[in-house]
Amino acid sequence: MNLPLVLTQFLDRAVTYYGDKTAVITGTGSITYRELNGRVQRLSHGLQSEGIQKGDKVAYLAPNSLEMLEGFYGLFQAGAVMVPLNTRLKPEDNLFILDHSEAKLLFADEELYSLIKPIKDKLKTVRKIIVHAKSKECPETGYDEWIMKFPETAYQRAGVDEEDLASLLYTSGTTGDPKGVMLTHRNNYLHAMSSMHALRVSDRDVYLHVLPMFHVNGWGSPFYYTANGATHVCLKKTDPKTIFDACAVYGVTVMHMAPTVLNSLLQYNDENKPEIPKNVRVMIAGSAPPPSFVERVETELGWEFIQVYGMTESSPYSTYSVIRPQLDDLSSKEQYRLKAKAGFGMIGSEVRIVNEFGDEVPHDGISIGEVTVRSHGVMKGYWKNEQATKEAIQNGWLYTGDMATVDEHGYIDILDRKKDIIISGGENISSIEVEGVLYEHKDIVEAAVIAVPHEKWGETPHAFVVKRPSSEISEQEIIDFSRSRLAHFKAVTGVTFVKELPKTASGKIQKVHLRNEYWDKAGKTGRFVN
Ligand code: ATP
Ligand code: MG
Repeated sequence: MNLPLVLTQFLDRAVTYYGDKTAVITGTGSITYRELNGRVQRLSHGLQSEGIQKGDKVAYLAPNSLEMLEGFYGLFQAGAVMVPLNTRLKPEDNLFILDHSEAKLLFADEELYSLIKPIKDKLKTVRKIIVHAKSKECPETGYDEWIMKFPETAYQRAGVDEEDLASLLYTSGTTGDPKGVMLTHRNNYLHAMSSMHALRVSDRDVYLHVLPMFHVNGWGSPFYYTANGATHVCLKKTDPKTIFDACAVYGVTVMHMAPTVLNSLLQYNDENKPEIPKNVRVMIAGSAPPPSFVERVETELGWEFIQVYGMTESSPYSTYSVIRPQLDDLSSKEQYRLKAKAGFGMIGSEVRIVNEFGDEVPHDGISIGEVTVRSHGVMKGYWKNEQATKEAIQNGWLYTGDMATVDEHGYIDILDRKKDIIISGGENISSIEVEGVLYEHKDIVEAAVIAVPHEKWGETPHAFVVKRPSSEISEQEIIDFSRSRLAHFKAVTGVTFVKELPKTASGKIQKVHLRNEYWDKAGKTGRFVN
């Protein structure tokens, strides 16, 4: 019989071939794969003793940590389904997810207890809360004390099959309410296989978790680094100094971060000139950075840059932006431009950009269409939402809601979400393109561009800007700067300075909030106002 593609195999393989190798480094110590597996088996025993059965949902509210990492495998060995909660959500949002997913147990980091306390008595399905460290302020069951009651060995695994659910992962909620995405063992397994190929993961890698494990961008990392016997580094902080120090001290070879964090790393480098760790081989970004970031990562830091594109619904990655050998002759500028695109299909994913009639757009770099994906990673569906599932998956293709072009080399360029595109005088303007230009200004730390109502053009681009603390840059200077670098119809027509931008836990800017507020204040109704 064929071997079912189940995620427990990844840790089993690491224990067999890399048992004595360091599996996880935290700020306070490290453990080997064999030791990790011992803890995982205790956890699985514990889950079973709590009555957890195959298919039961178990939630985690934790930062990147040893406990969260072992949680994945402990749950899988017991046949349970991982429901990771976003640590930046409000308690009521977590309450919604816990109820909606029907989670039976909740594991939480004690430092996040303030998010649980207000909802604790309202939980409908959660039978027990287990905290990583018990204290006076946090009087729930303490994790270490609890798992130590169970043996490391002699343990009966749940019989899990590849089509069984492994995780119920909620989308970021960038455009609305989060939706529960059902991913099977097979989805996650094959996604991990294509990702490890695309990112050339090996047993010599040391991966610094910067993106949260609970989010889909950092999602595959507990799987493909473990399968390869690579080392995980989980630190509590991920500020630029901690990142540079960790790279040097632990020999980090690979990291993955949102462009906003990458930007702060580049700024820290400008201002503090730290010694650049040479061991880092690649820096991965999970959403579109401007080409200037790519160039700066490769020239100033000397690290290879790869962009990946995907969404929770495709578990997540579908494309990556490495340079294929046929393109080696392109100038470095052209190569940076290609790498700043989402790239081409990973093994196991078919990607097509289609117009409103479902026909593929020409590969000319200008024709715009929606990204559709067919792959082994595409979700089983949205949990308890058949209607949304039907809209998202049509004839086997996942409709991503992202608009893109595709060039003659097959590299797709995500222009914007369908909902974020600005339509000015009948022209489509990508808010991402305009933001890319604003990021080139040295006084701009962060920028988000949205469509605002305009009497003549219907809509025009408006920027929300976080400037450097010492900067005195004016609205007019920013407008002029964007006009000097963009076709005039794409230039911003107004600027609102803000201290910070609303973001999801993975650092994505929630333009929906900016838009609602702006359009509300303007007293306008239009395609953005419900
Ligand atoms: P929600 O679906 O709840 O509104 P979300 O779409 O932000 O939230 P995720 O699944 O975390 O939830 O994010 C996927 C989206 O992130 C993609 O649909 C796309 O818009 C964006 N994205 C991901 N990778 C890239 C990339 N490389 N370039 C541009 N955009 C990207
Ligand atoms: Mg989405």
